[in-house]
Amino acid sequence: MKPRISTKLAKFRPSLTLALKTLVQDRSSKGLPVYDFGLGETKGHLNDAIRAAGEAAFRDEETMYADPGGLPELRAAVLRWLGLENHYGPENVVITNGAKQALLNTFMAIANPADVLLFDAAPWVSYQPLAVMAYATPIMVLPSSSERLLIRPEDLQRNIRMRPHARLFLLNNPVNPTGQLYDAETVAELALVCAENEVFFVLDRLYWKIVFDGVAFPEPPLDEEVLPWIVQIDGMSKNFRRAGGLRIGWSIAPTDLSEAMINLQSHYTSGPSVPSQRAALAALESPYDTTLVTDLQRKRDLVLKHSRDIPLVKVWETPGAFYSFWDIRDALGKSTPSGWTLLDADDVAAYLCESVGVVTSSGAPPSAETR
Ligand code: PLP
Repeated sequence: MKPRISTKLAKFRPSLTLALKTLVQDRSSKGLPVYDFGLGETKGHLNDAIRAAGEAAFRDEETMYADPGGLPELRAAVLRWLGLENHYGPENVVITNGAKQALLNTFMAIANPADVLLFDAAPWVSYQPLAVMAYATPIMVLPSSSERLLIRPEDLQRNIRMRPHARLFLLNNPVNPTGQLYDAETVAELALVCAENEVFFVLDRLYWKIVFDGVAFPEPPLDEEVLPWIVQIDGMSKNFRRAGGLRIGWSIAPTDLSEAMINLQSHYTSGPSVPSQRAALAALESPYDTTLVTDLQRKRDLVLKHSRDIPLVKVWETPGAFYSFWDIRDALGKSTPSGWTLLDADDVAAYLCESVGVVTSSGAPPSAETR
């Protein structure tokens, strides 16, 4: 029998993070205890302005097709939100169905089949599948020193030299899943290495408001050299409470790239839902809710305090984003009280869930997602 699913998609597993949501619902419905540290989603109430704008959009019947690049007002508001009005116009902004689609648009706009997309050393779980969807080859840049999986500009330079088909390097800052933060100097050097090699520097800044201890987000340089090569990806999903389901993200890119992405998007989504765009506009135009970061910092401190004394794990400090990354290598090969030998991070995550209901996300190498 001929294969019914394409060889490309047959290799995909469902998104690990969304699968965790199902696991939590399953356990809760069976009355089992659940302590959910799985999916990265902000809690609390939706901002009243977001709700009112969404309601008004439906009431006013703003439900017809709109500009496939996004509502002009929202594109202008995105530039103000990021302080980029002096560098770009609304034509450089593309509103998407979440940051995921902004990433896919970027990969599709830049890569030819088999081109190489370079990711940082601890890539978020969906980068590789998205690269494969764009018919590109995802490759991780490994750090020469193992310090917190942070790569240095010389690591990037070496990798670009080895891969003549590299078309972009993606940096996620702050980093999901490690919670680390690249400083401004390193970001600038990485951007420059890209520009000098005519490789796009894609900065996924989806957690940029969530930086702790009063540190400012390290903005990338936007000088003449870097500007033609930088793409920034951002959105509503992490910096606002309960807003991941709005499915609104955006990219800010050079005009030729943005035009290509709008063209592409006009064929496959016609742009995101208009009521969601209205809701996002209201959020960007309201005073920012700074309690989000103070609440998360308090939780970050609690997790650090209580996890430090757990035997066999080393817990990393978390300067940004809302993840706690644990080095569990000392636990591997050890047996649980019931005689289960823990062989890898997946085993440890499964053991924590099954034995005490603590849901975590395994940090197993991301190739598992596309295997
Ligand atoms: N980039 C990173 C680093 C993420 O953690 C996520 C979601 O978890 C995304 C992109 C996708 O965001 P969205 O939900 O807006 O599509």
